[in-house]
Amino acid sequence: MARRLVTLGATLGATLRSALGTALAPPCCVLCDRPGLPGPIDLCGDCLAELPRAPADAPFDTEIFERVCCPWRFEFPVDALVRALKFHGERAHARLLGTLLARERLRCAAPLPDLVVPVPLHALRLRERGYNQAAELARFAARELSLPLDRSLLARQRATREQSHLHLLERRRNVSGAFVTARVLHGAPRVALVDDVVTTGSTVAAAAAALLAGGAGAVELWVVARASRRGRVRRAEP
Ligand SMILES: [Zn+2]
Repeated sequence: MARRLVTLGATLGATLRSALGTALAPPCCVLCDRPGLPGPIDLCGDCLAELPRAPADAPFDTEIFERVCCPWRFEFPVDALVRALKFHGERAHARLLGTLLARERLRCAAPLPDLVVPVPLHALRLRERGYNQAAELARFAARELSLPLDRSLLARQRATREQSHLHLLERRRNVSGAFVTARVLHGAPRVALVDDVVTTGSTVAAAAAALLAGGAGAVELWVVARASRRGRVRRAEP
């Protein structure tokens, strides 16, 4: 796999494909420029097979979740793709990662959930960034599986400090009670909670607790990658 991320041409191509649909431009691998996979997936089969798989056991407490789908480690090139999506406006990567995440969930035989919900950003950060990368991922994952998406169900009721600079206990305190559901859920639906990266799991656990308190029957976690506590998700060039 080429140890570089995305030629300018490939990036522009992916953006163009997102904007215009695939009829005008076939999928192209963002890592090596070879043809992408049907779907469309902007990654070739070889590069997809080489993505760094995460071990099955999660490095955080997953008791609150019915199941966890976290396919990759936050290492190259997954980290570069996520950072490009999160910090550099490469929203085309959301389609790639969201679609792949949905397909990973299909490897598990368990019935799909009833609803897909992204981890929200606080309104201030959303204004700053212009979009919520978790919502972008959730949109494409839900579309791939033909599941309903509710991007406004969960809200952050208060701003939280940047988690990457905090230790585990500080992280838990930082996000405890930070989330609330905008409405009460009826019929105890099973919800898939979507985020880009998980480190200690404090944020997603707090979000899941809010969903359960709001009437969800169960919550499963879909997250692209897990980062080690040493490899915190800092803003960095991809
Ligand atoms: Zn490739």
